[in-house]
Amino acid sequence: MRHPQGITTSEGAALFRPTQARRTIMAMKINADECTACGDCAAECPNSAIMNKGAFFKINPDKCNECEGISEFQKCVDVCTAGCIVPA
Ligand code: SF4
Ligand code: SF4
Repeated sequence: MRHPQGITTSEGAALFRPTQARRTIMAMKINADECTACGDCAAECPNSAIMNKGAFFKINPDKCNECEGISEFQKCVDVCTAGCIVPA
């Protein structure tokens, strides 16, 4: 049987076979208590995933893909001098 994602199984059973070449993508998040609301991260985000919430900034987890395919590192983390952007 051909799995919807293109993986062939003998009995049609669900099959999940992660490869080492493909890491799990997670969203990043901002610790609001430590954020100085400088806005540097939002200016760097290629996915427009970072929103200004006034006293702090917030990452939309539906838009953040850790800069996968765009950068070797998370651009927001690289510019945040407060060090308050961490894995969600
Ligand atoms: S990790 Fe990349 S995509 Fe996610 S919020 Fe930061 S800059 Fe945007
Ligand atoms: S760069 Fe860091 S301190 Fe500045 S707004 Fe983004 S999360 Fe907050």
